[in-house]
Amino acid sequence: MAGPQINAPPLLVLDNVSIGYRAPRGHLTAVDRVSFTLAAGERLVLLGPSGCGKSTLLRAVGGFLKPSAGQIRLHGKTITKPGPDRMTVFQEFDQLLPWRSVLGNVRFALQRGNGLSRRDATDVARDWLGRVGLERFVDAYPHTLSGGMKQRVAIARALALRPALLLMDEPFAALDALTRRHMQDELLALCEDTGSTTLFVTHGIDEAIRVGTRILAMTPHPGRLAASFEVPVETRARGTPQFAALESHIQQSVFADSAPAHADA
Ligand code: ADP
Ligand code: MG
Repeated sequence: MAGPQINAPPLLVLDNVSIGYRAPRGHLTAVDRVSFTLAAGERLVLLGPSGCGKSTLLRAVGGFLKPSAGQIRLHGKTITKPGPDRMTVFQEFDQLLPWRSVLGNVRFALQRGNGLSRRDATDVARDWLGRVGLERFVDAYPHTLSGGMKQRVAIARALALRPALLLMDEPFAALDALTRRHMQDELLALCEDTGSTTLFVTHGIDEAIRVGTRILAMTPHPGRLAASFEVPVETRARGTPQFAALESHIQQSVFADSAPAHADA
């Protein structure tokens, strides 16, 4: 459906964003002067090693954290709090409400986030749970599901609300390798089908290439943008020479050195 709209104004703008934490020995700069834009229909991946500030950035875009400097704007308006226009899928398997069924989890989010009636929310929830292959599990409770199934519910819940921006913080990192690959493929198909604009965080280069249309590599301490990579459509298929070539290019240009040069520009 909708591809990146090159001439449209960007959906999301990060303008010189720095984010700090109070730390035992003073102030810790987790994210240092990060700027980028995200156009509607893009799937932008923030790629970097543990501790480089990926989750911090995502939490700020989600409205859970305030930048110490700079601005984050969605549709031209500064983000000040969380909202149903930005749904986040987290790595942890405990993000569902344990006392609600699979259907109940998605329905509740739709009633609260989109103000749907119970009946409408039920229909939309069933539709989305079908799209992630869980039609037979709508009445199940989260504790009876596998990790992959729980993540599918979380993805269905997030997409069902039709957010302007889908935020994903290493949603597949805690899954076994085979399930992770399945889930990456499923997510890719869903996002392409719905034209969802996505900001995806990962430490895996292969995952970044598989799910992203563009990759921003980060380096840690403090977290900065180091390089940007476009992912052409033909590069997205695993096992192709193009995929392997981009993987090793990113590896060498960003992660080969233990102390990579920072791109301060
Ligand atoms: P990533 O998601 O890339 O692994 P994070 O955003 O979680 O990185 O963390 C970036 C840096 O900020 C790390 O040095 C981490 O220790 C620090 N940090 C993260 N959350 C907090 C917090 N709540 N309080 C203090 N420091 C934090
Ligand atoms: Mg993280």
